[in-house]
Amino acid sequence: MDLTRTLWQHPRAYLAAEQPEDPVLFFAPAALRTRARLFLDGFPGLVTYAVKANPEGAVLDNLAAEGLRAFDVASPAEIALVHGRVPGAAMHYNNPVRSRAEIAFGRAMGVASWSVDRAGELAKLREALDPGRAEIAVRFKLPVKGAAYDFGAKFGAEPARAAALLAEVAQAGFVPSLTFHPGTQCADPAPWVAYVAEAASIARSAGVEVARLNVGGGFPSARGGAEPDLAGLFETIARAVRSGFGASAPALVCEPGRGLVADAFAHAARVKGVGEDGALFLNDGIYGAFAEMPILGLVGGVQALDPEGRKIKGVPEGRKIKAVPEGDAAALVPRVIFGPTCDSLDVLPGPLMLPRAVGEGCYLLTPGMGAYSTVTATSFNGFGTLRQITVERLDG
Ligand SMILES: *Cc1c(COP(=O)(O)O)cnc(C)c1O
Repeated sequence: MDLTRTLWQHPRAYLAAEQPEDPVLFFAPAALRTRARLFLDGFPGLVTYAVKANPEGAVLDNLAAEGLRAFDVASPAEIALVHGRVPGAAMHYNNPVRSRAEIAFGRAMGVASWSVDRAGELAKLREALDPGRAEIAVRFKLPVKGAAYDFGAKFGAEPARAAALLAEVAQAGFVPSLTFHPGTQCADPAPWVAYVAEAASIARSAGVEVARLNVGGGFPSARGGAEPDLAGLFETIARAVRSGFGASAPALVCEPGRGLVADAFAHAARVKGVGEDGALFLNDGIYGAFAEMPILGLVGGVQALDPEGRKIKGVPEGRKIKAVPEGDAAALVPRVIFGPTCDSLDVLPGPLMLPRAVGEGCYLLTPGMGAYSTVTATSFNGFGTLRQITVERLDG
């Protein structure tokens, strides 16, 4: 099996040779493998991959080749994908609301662990699953800040309800566990500390010794900025578990999506046209690979390239823009960035500071684009084609 399909050294080499009209997503398997190793070696428990972040076959293959053998899935399609692509992998079905048909499908495909956050859904699981065999993890939520996007708004039981559900899970004979998800792109470790402490308190008030504690996804990616301190985060989580649970510490599970996959991809968009006011019209936008930007903001470290793929130098950040004379092609100026559709919402949050020289035919190369990009892109207005190219490395 060819896991890398390496054809190009780096994105600029491809852009220079091909000068593509469609947007391109560059995948560096080596970057993904390095990040996976960091999780597998550093996280003090089982590492599962949240498939929804990027379900590309090449992503699953490379994670499996690096030794990752457990996946967080949320739908029959994701279950079938993992089942077919990584035979024997453990599947954790962590969408807490499922139809009876979805539960039956998960059971038939050998799902090992199920999350639940309300009594009606636990009743459905109790009818369909054999106690003793299956793990049921009660998902709880806290009103904590720190993530770029709050996941507690939809799923998760309040702590008192979670304790009641946990007691019922244990009484019914299932393997009792707890789970939470602190949000996404969670750069601050504080939510994990608060959640782990609450997990210990829920277990105590339920009178249940939990088998496993799933600390969710939410691990940050660089998003074009500083490398996240994952080792520090793992240590903080381990310390919180020791102080919260003491001798009855549960085994740990994590389920990163973005933190594993985002920084293994970069995206190239081409400038189709320039407005009289300097606004740039790209061949990709919020209905395509940039769907997350209105929620999470711009990714840092965007590199401007000329139509032949050469870097366009920008005046270093910090220098006063106003003082730069007209005609200075390197001067960073604020540019409004529009996507290709006819919808006026199709504009990136910004403006983005880019060299004045950026014009028609140029490329914008955006790092950290591997999560929630391919999966959420639409074909609205006939756009959304995203070519995928494998590269040895993303910089160069
Ligand atoms: C989306 C999701 C994840 C992955 O979140 P990231 O922020 O991408 O790490 C993990 N667990 C659950 C339950 C999710 O819904």
